[in-house]
Amino acid sequence: MLHVSHLRGREILHVSHLRGREMLHVSHLRGREMLHATRYYEQSHERSMTLWTLKGVIINNNLQILHETQVRFDADLPEFRTHGGVVATEDGHTITAPTLLWVKALDLLLDQMKLAGADYMNITAISGTAQQHGSVYWQRGAQHTLQSLEASKFLHEQLARSFSTPNSPVWMDSSTTTQCRQLEQAVGGAQKLAEITGSTAYERFTASQIAKLSQTKPSVYNNTERISLVSSFACSLFLGDYADIDYSDGSGMNLLDIHSKEWSQICLDATAPNLIDKLGTPVASSSIQGPISQYFVERFDFNPDCKVASFTGDNPASLIGMCLTEGNIAVSLGTSDTLFLWLRSPQTLLEGHILCNPVDKEAYMALLWSVADNPRLNTVSQSQTRGLHGHYCGQSLITLVLTLFHSPRQEAYMALLCFKNGSLTRERVRDDCAEGSWELFNELLDSTPRGNFGNMGLYFDEQEIIPFVKGDHRFNKANDRVQRFTSMEVEVRALVEGQFLAKRAHAEDLGFNIEAGSRIIATGGASNNKSILQVLSDVFNAPVYVQEAANSAMLGSAYQAKHALVAEHTSFSEMTSCLSPPVLACQPYKDASQVYNPMVGRYRRLIKSILDLK
Ligand code: ADP
Repeated sequence: MLHVSHLRGREILHVSHLRGREMLHVSHLRGREMLHATRYYEQSHERSMTLWTLKGVIINNNLQILHETQVRFDADLPEFRTHGGVVATEDGHTITAPTLLWVKALDLLLDQMKLAGADYMNITAISGTAQQHGSVYWQRGAQHTLQSLEASKFLHEQLARSFSTPNSPVWMDSSTTTQCRQLEQAVGGAQKLAEITGSTAYERFTASQIAKLSQTKPSVYNNTERISLVSSFACSLFLGDYADIDYSDGSGMNLLDIHSKEWSQICLDATAPNLIDKLGTPVASSSIQGPISQYFVERFDFNPDCKVASFTGDNPASLIGMCLTEGNIAVSLGTSDTLFLWLRSPQTLLEGHILCNPVDKEAYMALLWSVADNPRLNTVSQSQTRGLHGHYCGQSLITLVLTLFHSPRQEAYMALLCFKNGSLTRERVRDDCAEGSWELFNELLDSTPRGNFGNMGLYFDEQEIIPFVKGDHRFNKANDRVQRFTSMEVEVRALVEGQFLAKRAHAEDLGFNIEAGSRIIATGGASNNKSILQVLSDVFNAPVYVQEAANSAMLGSAYQAKHALVAEHTSFSEMTSCLSPPVLACQPYKDASQVYNPMVGRYRRLIKSILDLK
C-alpha cells in the first residue's frame, strides 16, 4: 500500500517543540519505528501552573506511538532558573528562553532514551514541531561549529558560545510594539503587510523581534550569522548545519511573501539591514533537509541514512495531526471547545493570519489568532489584542485559531475555531443544576425536547472571542430576555443547544455548509458523554463519531516525518489510512434540521441584539 520499502527495519526520529502543553521529548523504539521529539508547554490541572518540556516520541511505520520520554525544563534543568521554561522581565513584556536550555534538554533527552533502550540505528527519519514565532540567533562561526561537532562531547558544551544573544524571544513576548508600527508604515500600512505576509504586524512575530535586536543591539545583530525559528533551530541540531525555515512556520514572521513563498524584499528592508543573508531559503514543510549529522551517528549510533525532515510550528503541526478529510468536522470538547472544518469556499478573513499549508505546499491555512494568557503578563499591548477587538480577556490558555487549507486542485480549505467557554461552563451549569453529576445532567438534558420549548440560552463565563460576549443570556419563546428559566431541565438543554448553535453559526460564517455525508468527529473529555453528543449531532444534522485525539501537534509532526519520506509516492491521506477509524456514537433525529435550522438564524439575531446593547 505504501511505497515505504526503504522504511523497513528502520525508525523515524521526530522532534517537536510546541506550545500549548509543551514538552520536547524524545523516545525511541525498535523495529520499524519513528522517533518523534516534541517540545511543548504543558498546562497542569491547576490552571495557573505551567510546565514546559521537551518531548520525544517514537512512532512505528503504522503511525502508532511506541515510546515517549520528556525533559522538564524547570525541574530537570534548574540551573537555567526558568519559570515555566521562560524568563520574564518585571513588566512582563520581554519574555525569553535561554537558547542553551533547549540544547541541553536535547542532550538529556537523547541520553535518557538511550538508557531506556532506544536503538537509534532503526530510526529512518526525524521531524519536529516547536512554538511558532520564537527566534534563535547564531553568532558568526556557529555554522562551522555545527558542522564539526565532536561526538565525545555534549551539544551544550560545544554550542555554549554559538549564540549572539543567549536568550531567544518566545511567542509570549510583547515588547516590540514600536517595531510593529514601523514595519506596517514602511510597507504601506497594516492591510498591505497582511496582503503580503498573511498577517498585520504582531509583537510576537519574528520581524519585529529582529528589528528590535537590530535597533537596540546593533553589534549583536551584526554578529549574527543566521536567524532560525525555534523549529528550524531544533532541526539544525540534528542536521549539523543551518536548517531552512519551512513555509508554514515562516508564515508567522511577517517576512515571508506567502504567495511567492519567498522572503519579501520590502519587509526585509523594513526590518533590518542585510537580513536576507541571515535567513536562508524557505522550503516546503514536508521537505527533507538532509541526512542526520555525523555527530549523532558517532555518539548515539544513528543510522547515517537517517533523514532529517523540516520541522514546523505547533499550529501547523496540530492541523496535520487532525488528519481531516473533506466532509468531516472535528469537534474537540475539552477545557475549551475547538472546531476543525473542511471548507470549499471560505469567506474572506478580515483579521487573523493566513499561513502556508504544512501538508500541501500549494495550499494555505489561516490562523484567526492564538493568544495565551500568562499569569505573569498583566499588561498587554494594543496590537497584541487587536484580534480580540481591543480587549484582553481570560485567565488561562486561550486559543482561537481559524485555519484554511487551500488546494488549487480541489479548491478545498480547512478551518479551526476555538471557543473558550467549553467544558468549564458546562461544569458550572452541571454544578448549579445537577449536583455536580454528569449522570443527573444527562437525565435533565434527555428529559427536554429538541428545541427546548422555544427557550434559548447563551452562557459565557469568560469573555468569549467569537462572539465577543460575556455573561448569561436567557430568552423565552417570544425572544424576551428572562432572568432564569422555569426548570433545571430547560437550563441544561439551553446551555448545550446554545453552545452548539454558536459553533454551527460561526462555522457557517466561514463558508462551511453541512452536506450529505458530512461527519462530525468528536474528541476531548466531553466526547464520553452521549447525551451531549446527541445534541451536537442534531444541531449539525450529521452523525457523530468518536476518536481519540490526544497530542495532535505532536502526532502531526510525527506524521510529517514519514510524509517527508513518502510524499513523492503517497498522498498524506493514503499515508494516514492505517490509523484506526473513528467509532459511530450517534445519529441525528429525523426532525433535527427542521428544529435547528431556524434556531441558527434566531441565534444570530439574539447575538446581534446582545452586541448592539454594548
Ligand atoms: P483538555 O482540554 O484540558 O485536554 P479534556 O479533553 O481532557 O481537556 O477534557 C476535560 C473536560 O472534559 C473537563 O473539563 C470535564 O468537564 C469534561 N468531561 C469529562 N467527562 C465528561 C462527561 N462525562 N461529560 C461531560 N464533560 C466531561
